[in-house]
Amino acid sequence: MLSNEQNASGSAEGTPSADSPTTSTKRVRDLHEMTHDELAELLSSLGQPSFRTKQVEEWIWTRHAMSFDEMTNLPADLRGTLAEICSLGGSEEIAKQVSRDGSRKYLLRFADGVAVECVGMPTGNRLAVCVSTQAGCRMGCVFCATGANGFTRSLRSDEIYEQVMYVGDDFATRVTSVVFMGQGEPFANYDQVLEALRRLNSPMGAGIGARHLTVSTCGVVPMIRRFAQEPEQFTLAVSLHSAIQQTRNYLMPGVHKYSLARLHDAMADYVERTGRRPTYEYALIAGVNDTENELEALMAFCQGTLAHVNLIQLNDCPGSRLKPSTQERAEQFVHGLGSVGVEATIRNSRGADIDAACGQLKQRHENKGKRSR
Ligand code: SAH
Ligand code: SF4
Repeated sequence: MLSNEQNASGSAEGTPSADSPTTSTKRVRDLHEMTHDELAELLSSLGQPSFRTKQVEEWIWTRHAMSFDEMTNLPADLRGTLAEICSLGGSEEIAKQVSRDGSRKYLLRFADGVAVECVGMPTGNRLAVCVSTQAGCRMGCVFCATGANGFTRSLRSDEIYEQVMYVGDDFATRVTSVVFMGQGEPFANYDQVLEALRRLNSPMGAGIGARHLTVSTCGVVPMIRRFAQEPEQFTLAVSLHSAIQQTRNYLMPGVHKYSLARLHDAMADYVERTGRRPTYEYALIAGVNDTENELEALMAFCQGTLAHVNLIQLNDCPGSRLKPSTQERAEQFVHGLGSVGVEATIRNSRGADIDAACGQLKQRHENKGKRSR
């Protein structure tokens, strides 16, 4: 995982110093990459009173300003100076698909050219956003378009945050919930993900309630244990996909070292410690994890836990032999789980007509590029 400093492609030397913030040899630094203290120091070095820090933070985080000109409560000369010595990051939209159901999928590119997907899903006056936490993923799940395309780098917290604000702007509405279910494994980028969660939750950020912020992990056990200790009420989802070790190893090779037994223990501790209900994600794949044995194992794994099971219709990956189960089979799973007191729902797939599975828009975009070269 890249650290903030590495991602910023520089060292602490890149920080404008107190005595000569405008020196042309100093690298232009993105305001989003600065900590509160660094920003305060920069503004103080420019002779600004301390309340400016909060004003600038409000512009960049809460209001998602895309230019210094928008920052109308800052003196014009300060805006000019900031524009010379800092950048405002953001992202560039390089593809967008709009679904018949109203959801919109975006491919956003960051300053270094790395692109990730995110999705906005409106329902009434609510807007849920699905964000990526890494460009690519090392876990290599066989049903996942992201996993098939390898790994580029982890995202910084501000790049994760940017996706939420970008989508909110595009819909011209407030984002009411965020799921970390785009590309990448959030718990392979824990610190940046936590920072993004906190910024999304903060009244000085997006102000989204912690319970409306959901992280989905493929089951990185040590990080589930760590997450259980965070003071906020963030929501946890775990991609289970099979409660039989051999099947799970095949479907999700990247987490084979975190056995189902260890996962079960960690989740029991999570529930005991937090009192919160976790979700298991289970994409039903015909003949692979939807057999009678699989259902029985899943019932045994979940019985007596607080967990809710989300049965997901597998998104067809082009070129893959894995096929979704029938609706009838999904209903039998709901029934079986219900018979042992486990709540389960069949998740209706949003944006099924727009390369819905994570990584598919990116894959399509890149293949298009390859063909035209
Ligand atoms: N890496 C994390 C979060 C991103 S994947 C994780 O694996 O949980 C988000 C969800 O999409 C996971 O539950 C994942 O298993 C699921 N997913 C990936 N590819 C899919 C596909 N082709 N069909 C249905 N769900 C898929
Ligand atoms: Fe990575 Fe999640 Fe895809 Fe698995 S399902 S390859 S963990 S993004």
